[in-house]
Amino acid sequence: MSDPKDPGWRPETRLVRAGRASGSEHGAVNPAIQRGSTVLLPSVAALYGPGKSYGLEGFGVHETLRAALADLVGAHDTVLAPSGLAACTVALLSATRAGGEVLVTDSVYGPTRRFCDGLLARFGVRTRYYDPGTGGAIAALIGPDTQALFLESPGSLTMELQDVPALAAAAHARGVTTIIDDTWSAGVLFNPLDHGVDVSVQALTKYQAGHADVLMGALVSRDPARIAAITATVKELGLGAGAPEDAYLTLRGLRTMPLRLDRQGASALAVARWLEARPEVAQVLHPALPTHPDHALFARDFQGASGVFSIVLHPASEAQVAAMLDGLRLFGLGFSWGGYESLVITCDPQLKRTARAWRAAGPLLRFSIGLEHPDDLIADLAEGFTRLAG
Ligand SMILES: *Cc1c(COP(=O)(O)O)cnc(C)c1O
Repeated sequence: MSDPKDPGWRPETRLVRAGRASGSEHGAVNPAIQRGSTVLLPSVAALYGPGKSYGLEGFGVHETLRAALADLVGAHDTVLAPSGLAACTVALLSATRAGGEVLVTDSVYGPTRRFCDGLLARFGVRTRYYDPGTGGAIAALIGPDTQALFLESPGSLTMELQDVPALAAAAHARGVTTIIDDTWSAGVLFNPLDHGVDVSVQALTKYQAGHADVLMGALVSRDPARIAAITATVKELGLGAGAPEDAYLTLRGLRTMPLRLDRQGASALAVARWLEARPEVAQVLHPALPTHPDHALFARDFQGASGVFSIVLHPASEAQVAAMLDGLRLFGLGFSWGGYESLVITCDPQLKRTARAWRAAGPLLRFSIGLEHPDDLIADLAEGFTRLAG
């Protein structure tokens, strides 16, 4: 499907070369965008044969994107989904059956939690949330009905890191499928498949597409049987691979993703360091800072940091926080991240912890740092702190 690969190539090189030899037409560097529902088959014998028979499975541009994503992390294959959330729910549905149980980190992305407590529960799969700080001791929580262990590191909003290899090893010893939401690292700063995880999920909406104009998700695995089970789940649900234009835009984003991650990661660290010195800030939750409680795991497992982190303010009223954020000129108020533009949200209404209560000195804010100059972002925040005080 992909270029001849050189195993020594680094991610930047792999992402520039990936899929280049396959989908192109008339010598174009990039693949064609093929729209379609109907696929014409050449004969009656082919109608029920093994080949592609319907547009839901996607066309060449989807295959190119799949090959590029698999190549990046050394996976057997990629399954695409129409959103990152769909990729999370498909991962859980394909690893469980009625009567079973999943162990999910208490720091999980909110909509994944809503799925576990809602649809997954209605179809007879229970969820138990575990403290994200649990490592190999997860073995004590695994019971006879445990079918999957779901990780996210760092966790959404609160940014705890998990001991991924210890969790994966404990799950494997009991035949439990491990799934990770690895959106934060984009598969570049951390490769969960190298740390024993069975299925890694990406919201391609974030850094891969990178321009706040696409919703798409992906699942990668090294195990052909798991890829087959996930593919079957996507097919049974009728989800399909997403629009061909979206696959194209995501592939286009991938070419520059390492550059954007580098810049956004460096800018985020600069902003985080500046915030750490501010008297209004009680705590900066950025895993690359030595003050982060899980920094040792970050230093052990990650190649770098992306542009998303959180802070805890000293106690402040809702009106003060609103005055600070409503007046920002460069930071938008928005729930997504990974695009070229900086964003911030308040988080407290979203925190629904049950395994271990979230305790913090004051309000929690989550930042996504974009491609603006960090000094301009810092100036915007400095004005915000003046409004916070007023
Ligand atoms: C955004 C996000 C998702 C969901 O992605 P969508 O494409 O928006 O559905 C899943 N997990 C994490 C950690 C996210 O930040």
